Amino acid sequence: MTNTSLDPKKEQGDQKVQLQLLPPEFLVQVARALGHGAKKYGVRNWHLGKVECQTYLGAMLRHLMAWQDGEDLDRDSGVSHLAHVAASVAILLDAAKVGTLVDNRPPDVKRKDRVISECCGYPIKPYPHAKTGFNCGNCFQPVFSDGKTP
Ligand SMILES: [Zn+2]
Repeated sequence: MTNTSLDPKKEQGDQKVQLQLLPPEFLVQVARALGHGAKKYGVRNWHLGKVECQTYLGAMLRHLMAWQDGEDLDRDSGVSHLAHVAASVAILLDAAKVGTLVDNRPPDVKRKDRVISECCGYPIKPYPHAKTGFNCGNCFQPVFSDGKTP
């Protein structure tokens, strides 16, 4: 790609994350949904407590089903159901980054290369745990990649 711009910062800027591509309407609507959540549960509550994938998956699916049925706005908040889904995605991504995400998605029992946890006999799941990097898919305690517990 040739840089034909007269802006000396353009080439450097183009290599960074392109936050200007986020549609303003998306940001406004998601901020409305997050604002509703902040009133109910506290600002950035997902930094203070654990965030379980299944809880958010259920909420996102309920919002999507309501939207599929033709309801645009959530009755509780008055905010778009789609904005609530996007807010949940934002929280899941941020919780994974700050280490509060609990990956309790159902384990894939058909995988041949799965490793079983010593504690519960349950498939282990990769998890950004500071000590081991994995946890038991059932009790969530940290386990090593071979399934042994510390
Ligand atoms: Zn366990």
